[in-house]
Amino acid sequence: MHPDRRLTRNQDAVLAVLQEQRSPLSAQALYRLMRDRQPMGLATVYRALDVLKLNGLVQHRVSLEGESLYSSIHQDLHYLTCLHCGQSFVLDHCPVERLEDQIQTSGSFKVYYHTLEFFGLCEPCAHPAAPTPSTVHVDDESTADGEV
Ligand SMILES: [Zn+2]
Ligand SMILES: [Zn+2]
Repeated sequence: MHPDRRLTRNQDAVLAVLQEQRSPLSAQALYRLMRDRQPMGLATVYRALDVLKLNGLVQHRVSLEGESLYSSIHQDLHYLTCLHCGQSFVLDHCPVERLEDQIQTSGSFKVYYHTLEFFGLCEPCAHPAAPTPSTVHVDDESTADGEV
């Protein structure tokens, strides 16, 4: 963020609330949280988020339902999202940190944040009514090599 840019009280309050969150929030949810802190209209919440985003303080990702979810820039989280049940699982590390460093040090682009998300099926959705593990490979021995 440019040192000469100062946040308004509303922008500051929105940022403070986002920094306390463990997972990304929709603007609506943020708006509801702000009511106890520093009440402001939903349009003001959106405007504050836009300013914060342009200043590299807030990032957002879009959920499967098309809803924008906002989080502090310091939460570098990556997700595995199941297309069937819609659950998102957090990846335990950032696989592109080095790449971001390289782009940053090249000097030709100021990186604020990156997003990376994998889509597919989670284990229960990929194997509905899955048999217990002990029965999974029961047929292995009867499969002869020549049958392929
Ligand atoms: Zn699933
Ligand atoms: Zn990352």
